[in-house]
Amino acid sequence: MAYDLIDIGANLAHDSFDDDRDAVLERARAAGINRLVITGSSDDSNRGAIELARQTPGLFSTAGVHPHHAKDYTDDSDALIRELVKEPECVAVGECGLDYFRNFSPREAQLDAFRRQLDIAIETQKPVFLHQRDAHDDFVEVLEDALPKVSRAVAHCFTGEHESLREYLAMGLSIGITGWICDERRGKHLYDIVDVVPDDKLMIETDAPYLLPRTLTPKPKTRRNEPVHLTEVLRVVAEARGQTEEHVANITTENAVRFFGLE
Ligand SMILES: [Zn+2]
Repeated sequence: MAYDLIDIGANLAHDSFDDDRDAVLERARAAGINRLVITGSSDDSNRGAIELARQTPGLFSTAGVHPHHAKDYTDDSDALIRELVKEPECVAVGECGLDYFRNFSPREAQLDAFRRQLDIAIETQKPVFLHQRDAHDDFVEVLEDALPKVSRAVAHCFTGEHESLREYLAMGLSIGITGWICDERRGKHLYDIVDVVPDDKLMIETDAPYLLPRTLTPKPKTRRNEPVHLTEVLRVVAEARGQTEEHVANITTENAVRFFGLE
């Protein structure tokens, strides 16, 4: 039996889905993934994401600029996010945050874009969809100032250690878990600590087309991840938490509905 699931982070506007997006959604729905939040991460993908959400029942979008693109964060980018978050289909600001792993954008630009997007989240009282990699201290510092005024915030694709997980939870963040947890090389620690997340703070996502779960059998022919594999994230999260898949499906779906205000 398929559980009713919500993928809270799918980069479905990505061009790797241009040839078969309908089939991808069809496969997802057949597996119970009836609702998806499409991640906006640049001016282009923000437009693409809302376009898809407008066309297709069950699809929602976010609007934001990923730290990789922070150097391209212009007044126009800011205005576009502000315009899009007024739309009913657009359910969050982001993804936004800090990524010092590759530093595709200078840190100053990342900090500036992050602060500006938090301002939008505060003014509009939309939830915020957060990205952080190798930037924990700055991330917490910027976020702590804003958080009392932000409605809700989720640390999307959480991959950190026990210490930062506890810190995030103490700050009131929700936690998004991807197929990173299915990676026996770099996700083992996540498997071991995911049961620390309280039932009411947990959500699941694929981050498709990235992060194909390594535990899938048989191994798919393509490296491209897609929303149908949310069922594998569900399976591994449930196993790691010592809960049934049904329970994890119920709580993560309820949380996503409440967090994003989905109908
Ligand atoms: Zn991300």
